[in-house]
Amino acid sequence: MNIDETVVESIVKKVLSQLDSQQPQDCCPGGEWGVFKTMDEAVSAAVTAQQEYLNRSMHDRAKYVQAIRDVVLDQENLEYISRKAVEETGMGGYEYKLIKNRLAAVKTPGIEDLTTDAMTGDDGLTLVEYSPFGVIGAITPTTNPTETIICNSIGMLAAGNAVVFSPHPRAKEVSLHLVRLINKALAVAGAPDNLVVTVSEPSIANTNAMMNHPKIRMLVATGGPGIVKTVLSSGKKAIGAGAGNPPVVVDETADVEKAAKDIVDGCSFDNNLPCIAEKEVIAVDSVADYLIFNMKKHGAYEVKDPAIINKLVSLVTKEGKSPVTDFVGKSAKYILEQVGISVGDDVKVILMEATEDHPFVQVELMMPILPVVRVPDVDQAIEMAVRVEHGNRHTAMMHSRNVEKLTKMAKLIQTTIFVKNGPSYAGIGVGGEGYTTFTIAGPTGEGLTSAKSFARRRRCVLVGGMDVR
Ligand code: NAD
Repeated sequence: MNIDETVVESIVKKVLSQLDSQQPQDCCPGGEWGVFKTMDEAVSAAVTAQQEYLNRSMHDRAKYVQAIRDVVLDQENLEYISRKAVEETGMGGYEYKLIKNRLAAVKTPGIEDLTTDAMTGDDGLTLVEYSPFGVIGAITPTTNPTETIICNSIGMLAAGNAVVFSPHPRAKEVSLHLVRLINKALAVAGAPDNLVVTVSEPSIANTNAMMNHPKIRMLVATGGPGIVKTVLSSGKKAIGAGAGNPPVVVDETADVEKAAKDIVDGCSFDNNLPCIAEKEVIAVDSVADYLIFNMKKHGAYEVKDPAIINKLVSLVTKEGKSPVTDFVGKSAKYILEQVGISVGDDVKVILMEATEDHPFVQVELMMPILPVVRVPDVDQAIEMAVRVEHGNRHTAMMHSRNVEKLTKMAKLIQTTIFVKNGPSYAGIGVGGEGYTTFTIAGPTGEGLTSAKSFARRRRCVLVGGMDVR
């Protein structure tokens, strides 16, 4: 039987269109699941999306936030982004990334964060509510590439915004993959297209284009001091979540055995990548030996030879001033191998005694190298901790049972997170109370950011009536 070519063509077209209608449509002209060629296209698409988003209900917002949580928690996706982040950036460890990505998906607050204040009286009713900024430009780091996108997407969308991401070029593939996953999940949940967008070639030029774009109403930078300074000089509302150099103080009243374990666990978490992770220990002399002894029991390897320590300094720092990127987030075992020391997988931290001026104390290394500085008493320990934190106001830890000294350190160091008698990650809700975030805004004061940090306070006044007391 001969079938006319036009009939075949029409059948093929019909089948293709049926197949198409079973899939969520490619979400945007010019953009592929939220990934656009140019920054201008990305921002324009996000502007359109946010305008449509304004008409959706709070119930819808909650549904979209849940869709983001669910797509990240899908085991295959979770494993993929965790593995890919380590492969692409060469930083951190797969098992840790699994924990961090899951944490961001589960414990980042959603719409419940947006509480309303009401004032009523003879003159009527006044509401103060959290309202969206519009389109937010978010700059994300290599150290937590996917965690920050998950956490910012949830918080920013919960607050009614759309978001344009500017990922670190070294985390491009995994960031783009995650943006696509989120867009597909949002499309299935019925959200407007392009609430979460980025560009196919993240670069400093594209980040600058985003920061300067007139339609970007707010900037959120999670990264080092350079980018934080840049967004704060932009003339726009900006949140800066910058560098830390978290000290740990251990005094003579501490539970030293527990402190040793907590410090090794916190310092080695994701190979020391988190900005909150323990970076130097300041211990009162009378307990320092016992602390080091116990840290070694829990996975610390002590380097005593000054020649090896010097070798480490020249290997992992740029003239003692900043970390060498190739060593950021590498394991203790790997770093030791490079200086000719072979250890087992149980070694999680490289430990050495040092003085305050040592580069390992002064520089935010983001690798599991942990100097211990001895001091005669707790007051000197606190003063040194304040100095080496460099006024970042980021994170600090203290192990002590002396409430007066704990209070003294908390007051003097002024950090956004202050963990007492626990590992650093207790400060972001792992084994400590409270929600999580991967954008900790010390410099600009929002602290542990959540949906309300990405919203404007607006007052809505009804004159007369509605006071039912
Ligand atoms: P980074 O500063 O090198 O990069 C961060 C982001 O800023 C990247 O997207 C990068 O492309 C961009 N960027 C950097 N300089 C830029 C410039 N001049 N112009 C335009 N864009 C620029 O930081 P990183 O190495 O990716 O991350 C590690 C740093 O981030 C550490 O200092 C760490 O403490 C900090 N950090 C802070 C938090 C926090 O919540 N406070 C969280 C994670 C990381």
